[in-house]
Amino acid sequence: MANAVLDAKHFHDEEAAYAYLEAKVWPNGPICPHCGGYDRISKMRGKSTRIGVYKCYQCRKPFRVTVGTVFESSHIPLRLWLQAAHLLASSKKGISSNQLHRTLGVTLKTAWFMSHRIREAMRSGNLAPMGGAGEIVEIDETFSGTLEGVSRSQYRGGGASSFMNTVFALVTRGGEARTFHVEGTTTAQLLPIIRANISKGSLVRHVG
Ligand SMILES: [Zn+2]
Repeated sequence: MANAVLDAKHFHDEEAAYAYLEAKVWPNGPICPHCGGYDRISKMRGKSTRIGVYKCYQCRKPFRVTVGTVFESSHIPLRLWLQAAHLLASSKKGISSNQLHRTLGVTLKTAWFMSHRIREAMRSGNLAPMGGAGEIVEIDETFSGTLEGVSRSQYRGGGASSFMNTVFALVTRGGEARTFHVEGTTTAQLLPIIRANISKGSLVRHVG
């Protein structure tokens, strides 16, 4: 009974899982993670097309909503990622990879990979800060979907409300990246995140 919420369709149906994530990541409609385009995008349909694939006719590249998220580039169905994220986020005591392996019916190795990625994304309080003395950490507040980013002026709609989905990223030279959904990019909104996630003594650079 405790997991009755897992009856929700997006936990079991791949189309519904994509629709669910798309509504969260793209409240104003799809945005191409390659070029930042948003006005010449079509959903790919047809039997041979994988679920959730869009094509951008500005840069001619295909993409899915999972690009740039912790759910990217894996053989794991999105509905299982959503289940795992829900279980990890809702369990007070935490869920072991072993439990995840049994609950989701994935291999132990896959369960370990999923919980590692999701925990990193949830940036629990005990997550070590990034960087360190003399190390460079870059702040990219135009990040949306991938490191190539989307410029703010390209963002659909204009006006303050259109930045509700702004994603802000901290990236180390070693390639570690953490992304945060923020409601705005003022110093007051970003500083607490920066303080909580970057080691003292890091060299912070602003890009984008
Ligand atoms: Zn594009």
